[in-house]
Amino acid sequence: MLTCQEVTAKASLMVDGELGFRERIAVRIHLMMCVNCRRFARQFQALVSSMASRNRLAAETIVPEFVDGVMQSIYRARESSSIPPGRDGE
Ligand SMILES: [Zn+2]
Repeated sequence: MLTCQEVTAKASLMVDGELGFRERIAVRIHLMMCVNCRRFARQFQALVSSMASRNRLAAETIVPEFVDGVMQSIYRARESSSIPPGRDGE
């Protein structure tokens, strides 16, 4: 039985289709039993596929630094907008 840590570590390999048959089965069994990893896998896959299709990037070129940059530009855009903190989402 894989641990949650092992499953999240294998997530990028899984999306790239680089996991062997046995590993893929082990991850799937864990996902069936663990709601946290299921949620993580769904979000991870959605993130990778949306980035890959929008930017025509291969999944392996998506690095944490790139994700950080995207998040920072979102925060900067929020800061520079006229919406006061805590009042967005109306
Ligand atoms: Zn888990």
